[in-house]
Amino acid sequence: MIDFHCHLDLFAQPASVAEKIQAGNFGALSVTTTPAAWRGTEQLAEGNSKIRTALGLHPQLAQERRGEIELFRALLPETAFVGEVGLDGSPELKSTWDDQVAVFDGVLGHCASEGGRLLSIHSRRAVGPTLAALERSPGAGRPILHWFSGSFRELEKAIEFGCWFSIGPGMLSSARGRALALAMPRARLLLETDGPFVLDGGLPAVPWKLDRVVQRLSQLFQESDSAIAALIESNESAVLAGFAR
Ligand code: MN
Repeated sequence: MIDFHCHLDLFAQPASVAEKIQAGNFGALSVTTTPAAWRGTEQLAEGNSKIRTALGLHPQLAQERRGEIELFRALLPETAFVGEVGLDGSPELKSTWDDQVAVFDGVLGHCASEGGRLLSIHSRRAVGPTLAALERSPGAGRPILHWFSGSFRELEKAIEFGCWFSIGPGMLSSARGRALALAMPRARLLLETDGPFVLDGGLPAVPWKLDRVVQRLSQLFQESDSAIAALIESNESAVLAGFAR
């Protein structure tokens, strides 16, 4: 099984985390927050069969790093995976909103020009505008909404749009997050940690302990661990189809 959203490069000791991922039972999509960080982060995964590196430009950095959209475009042919990208409608980021939209539109436009990418998307307090941006760039790729935290109505719209969802310890730690997880189509569920930002048992969540997320999902869905593992593995094959690199 695969952690579809982890920040390998932001752990205190990324090289040792990469080694532990390689030695463990789970794969990881290593997302980045700036195009400038991509090369070094991708090198952490060199020779590592369990890690794929995604090219990102995080909405919280969109204003400061909007100039890196050109670097994003230049690097995009090297990977089938894009993240972390998206929009954040939190009040403290209000002054950056126009830059966020311009950057996300740029990201999606370049993805569409390149034939589409698998996208790990941040949509905190911005599900509507995130879906609207995806609608403006048909062909941008297959969207995975990471740590969905919108309303149930917004969830319905995201499902209707065809989004996938990656679920992790952060989301499952709140009653509301668990209720949202229960309302998601089982066939579009994936796993994530969002480590090192999310803590699990007091320590940064890590891909090689992803079975803890499986256990929590099986409790929530009242299914066996092996049934949830089989479901997730089947979903992973489906979401990765066409995005092999
Ligand atoms: Mn993240």
